[in-house]
Amino acid sequence: MIYLNGEFMPLSEAKVSVMDRGFLFGDGVYEVIPVYSKRPFRPAEHLKRLQTSLDGIRLANPHSEAEWMTLIDRIVADADSPDHQVYLQVTRGVDEKRNHAFPKLIRPTVFMMSEPLLPPPPELCRQGITAVSATDNRWLRCDLKSISLLANCLLRQLAVEAGCAETLLFRDGFLSEGAASNIFVVKNSVLLAPAKTHLMLPGITYDVILELARAHGLPYEVRDVMESEVRSACELWMTSSTKEVLPIVSLDGRPVGVGVNAGQPGPVFAQMFAWYQEFKKSVMRRG
Ligand code: PMP
Repeated sequence: MIYLNGEFMPLSEAKVSVMDRGFLFGDGVYEVIPVYSKRPFRPAEHLKRLQTSLDGIRLANPHSEAEWMTLIDRIVADADSPDHQVYLQVTRGVDEKRNHAFPKLIRPTVFMMSEPLLPPPPELCRQGITAVSATDNRWLRCDLKSISLLANCLLRQLAVEAGCAETLLFRDGFLSEGAASNIFVVKNSVLLAPAKTHLMLPGITYDVILELARAHGLPYEVRDVMESEVRSACELWMTSSTKEVLPIVSLDGRPVGVGVNAGQPGPVFAQMFAWYQEFKKSVMRRG
């Protein structure tokens, strides 16, 4: 069952007008909430980020937090598998004619569905993934989770066509994030995380990684990260709610890291991966 504008229905019955501004202009925002053992992970944080995204596009939130929670609970209860991801999307709704200016009467389109959530295959965690890099040519509000993902799709496709898993984005000589993930750097045993600005999405997994670093005494710095630091990193990781944390072992065809272990997941990753799995078991699954 999916949810569309007040009703639960089979996906095959869900219909949205071609005059929806989401369809015509990509005028909307979204969230993806991971669910483990039927427990949504940090729904309040996701709803807070949704509010920031809605404020950023000047669209009133169609639901209170309590209403969103009720809808999420229903989607979770209906889902077949205990682990899944709740996708929710709000657009500025349907207008009578195609017009850039906001419609006078706004009836947002609200859509929610559940999709399977499978952990990354163990061999990816063991062997790592490969990445390419590109100039970050997206707009200057990357902190909003906008459904206008054309730039992200084009950037991600560069990775796909190079046989890689992700595209790292650099803007003006600094790391912003991945096309669909946040990026961490390990340099001389210190974890470096780009500071949250309008140039990257404030990832919920990003927060988890920094919390785990703090809890386990791993030194970290949140600051601007230079492209040169990424290119000379000991380790690179990517994070997202669906990919968790994965090691990047090659960037633009060159192995990540130095010495005999270059091109392999590093020791700091191995620690963080273990902490993350433990956190998933003891916190995310327990609620
Ligand atoms: N940056 C971008 C551009 C993303 O699309 C995503 C999520 N898919 C992330 C970062 C990671 O965010 P989260 O940890 O909340 O999934």
